[in-house]
Amino acid sequence: MNFNMNLNTLTTTDLRGKKVLLRVAYDITLQAAGDQFIVPDDGRIRATVPTINYLLAQDCSIILLSWLGRPTPGLIEEQYKMDPVAAKLAELIGRPVKKLDATVGAQVTEEIAKLRPGDILMLENTRFLVGENEADPQLGAELAALGEYVVWEAFAQGHRVHASTTGLLEHSQGKCCAGLLMEKEVSILQGLLLNPQPPFVLLLGGAKVSDKSGLLYTMISKVEVVLLGGALANPFLKAAGYNIGVSLIESVYVDQAKGTKFDAVAVASELLKDQGDKIKLPLDVVVASKSADGSFDKNSIRIVEIGQNKDLCVGAEMILDIGPATRKLYESIIAAAGTIFWNGPMGLFENSDFAAGSLAIARAVAASPGFSVVGGGDTEGVVRMAGLSQAYDHLSTGGGASLSFLSGEELPVLKYLYK
Ligand code: ADP
Ligand code: MG
Repeated sequence: MNFNMNLNTLTTTDLRGKKVLLRVAYDITLQAAGDQFIVPDDGRIRATVPTINYLLAQDCSIILLSWLGRPTPGLIEEQYKMDPVAAKLAELIGRPVKKLDATVGAQVTEEIAKLRPGDILMLENTRFLVGENEADPQLGAELAALGEYVVWEAFAQGHRVHASTTGLLEHSQGKCCAGLLMEKEVSILQGLLLNPQPPFVLLLGGAKVSDKSGLLYTMISKVEVVLLGGALANPFLKAAGYNIGVSLIESVYVDQAKGTKFDAVAVASELLKDQGDKIKLPLDVVVASKSADGSFDKNSIRIVEIGQNKDLCVGAEMILDIGPATRKLYESIIAAAGTIFWNGPMGLFENSDFAAGSLAIARAVAASPGFSVVGGGDTEGVVRMAGLSQAYDHLSTGGGASLSFLSGEELPVLKYLYK
């Protein structure tokens, strides 16, 4: 990991009057509303407004570029078009945002040539383009040619090697810098790795150990305690000898590219053996039986204490949330924390019967005097459900990127943004 965080930043760059290509991460799951699509949550757009206003104050014109979702390259799919995003941005900043139906090409170049200071243009989803996902170098060069300068604000898309990420920056060397959001994301996560205020509490939930084991291995030496919940705790409970029945657990798989095998229970067992004194597992869990139609019978919901009885689930029962004793324990540890990083719901929070653990944790982290950083797409969902989007020191806009950063991997875009 390169700890040279001397980023080229917006405030130390003279961009007066320039045509700025502002690379943002407006990767928003749009919601169908009649025959249209709307932006259900504008957090990712809002987070870039300070940079947009800064550029406008510098008499720049702005060309916005992002990908959204996972469309099939070469096709134009309505639910992945940027139009609703452009409309939402226009509403937020109170000025027009012109949306083009293309990302590159003659029409785009013509429109860009016409831009006047203060004009804002939004280009179409980069993932509609063939070559984007494969980081086609020619496409990277074409994208770089769109503006006079690149301001990188897309923290959440900075962990991918695409034409519109590293490809674009490769062809923008000496004329790119980090935007205000990018600078904030990087410096806050960097602070967690370098000088967190102890006690540092790492709170991990969610579904897949494979997404989070890198972070666990890197962070465990830096934190005082790890609190586990959600389906992420399941392989640890299994490794500790409990029968978790048909609870959600990641299956063993082989990574063809790396030639490695991933076995969540083996990883959990190794972590428990080496770092067991730091890892806290739930004291109790909420279980319920899954019906044939996939729903959970309300009458089957029960709380199971974890202790002498090794059988946590019987029959069709699954672990679906942390229980009240666990909430209490975790709340007290969170209240005494100096620093907290939280990623991953504590249970199947989309079902209100199993949301109590996640909501309690969201509230506890918000109430803690410790420095709180929250990341993760679904975790953001919990935070929104709790009405606490503004309650943390930092709510990261990049789930995967923040996990990758805290795993000690250097985000591929960063090397282009150093001084
Ligand atoms: P994030 O996006 O915040 O990183 P993840 O994607 O890792 O979080 O996991 C979130 C998903 O995990 C949610 O859909 C949630 O319902 C699910 N989940 C958490 N705990 C459980 C559980 N015990 N059983 C089934 N699903 C769970
Ligand atoms: Mg997720």
